[in-house]
Amino acid sequence: MRAPELRARVVHANQELVRHGLVHLTWGNVSECDREEGIIAIKPSGVSYAELTAESIVIIDWDGKTVDGDLKPSSDLATHLEIFRNFDGVGGVTHTHSTAATAFSQAGKPLPCFGTTHADHFFGEVPLVRELNEEEVAEAYEENTGKAIVEHFQNAGLDPLAVPACLQKFHAPFIWGASAMDSVKNAVALEMCCDMALKTLSLNPDAQALPSHILRKHYLRKHGPGAYYGQG
Ligand SMILES: [Zn+2]
Repeated sequence: MRAPELRARVVHANQELVRHGLVHLTWGNVSECDREEGIIAIKPSGVSYAELTAESIVIIDWDGKTVDGDLKPSSDLATHLEIFRNFDGVGGVTHTHSTAATAFSQAGKPLPCFGTTHADHFFGEVPLVRELNEEEVAEAYEENTGKAIVEHFQNAGLDPLAVPACLQKFHAPFIWGASAMDSVKNAVALEMCCDMALKTLSLNPDAQALPSHILRKHYLRKHGPGAYYGQG
């Protein structure tokens, strides 16, 4: 069996989605890539999180071909691949239909940065990525979803490592990070920020975005060369 440690990390990260309440049924998947080996490990399609084993994880090459594993990979594989191929430094991708983040997707709203909880994880608004048109859906739905995400970040000049998530209109969030587990942590943070934002807006529909000097302070004390948060 190829890449046993990578497989074990991907099993653990997928099961963490359940522990954090981010998935119901099988509505979510996590992958991790090994850029040196040129492989991606991803959850198999339709398998329950409790039944996941290292053997059940599917190993894919950079072209999307299965190189090790008996099961079919997650149907969202092609979206994960587009993110890995185009966002340097991303090592893990998570997709869920977590309730609060999906509510923003369905409402067609980006997630404003309303406070420091958000600023600790995302350097500003989490963007809304457009829905696909009829041809894009018919041609290659999952691959074109990934292309729409990449296109949005490129056109907006957004750094995918500083804003490691997006909300796709009519769909749900896609989240990434340095590893599978890091992308799950960002997925937890996104869901909490969306939940807080819904409550913020219900208390005050005119709530202001966090002033940029506080946004910068909170983001940069945890990220980048001047970071000083934690024991690192
Ligand atoms: Zn989905």
